[in-house]
Amino acid sequence: MIYLTRKAEFSASHYYHNPNFTPEENHRIFGKCNNPNGHGHNYTLEVTVKGEVDSRSGFVVDLKQLKETMHFEVLDALDHRFLNKEVPEFRTLIPTTENLAISIWQRLKPKLKTAQLHRVRVYETADLFVDFYGEDSQDSE
Ligand SMILES: [Zn+2]
Repeated sequence: MIYLTRKAEFSASHYYHNPNFTPEENHRIFGKCNNPNGHGHNYTLEVTVKGEVDSRSGFVVDLKQLKETMHFEVLDALDHRFLNKEVPEFRTLIPTTENLAISIWQRLKPKLKTAQLHRVRVYETADLFVDFYGEDSQDSE
């Protein structure tokens, strides 16, 4: 089993708000991030796939397909977007880095053909990142 990671960057804006919280709760829990005018981040995404090395090509994954899938399924959808308003899942889901990682996983998983998705890592800043290994990370399939 071998692991391969491709990186990409995207910029997006968001704000944090839960309509089920009172204004006071939203302010207390989300602080400045509750400002509905939003604020931006330069995110770094790392997508790791795993599989066996193909003995004929020496590759674990079709690199072109991985790059194109990340481009079409993730970057086209998220880059330079106001996540709360322009990305369907974040009309109801709070666009935290945690939920971004889960959303990116769900966007990529059904589209990757040869390699198996292993991890989605999203950096919100250089000092803060989230890892998601899928819902069934317990079984190694
Ligand atoms: Zn933020």
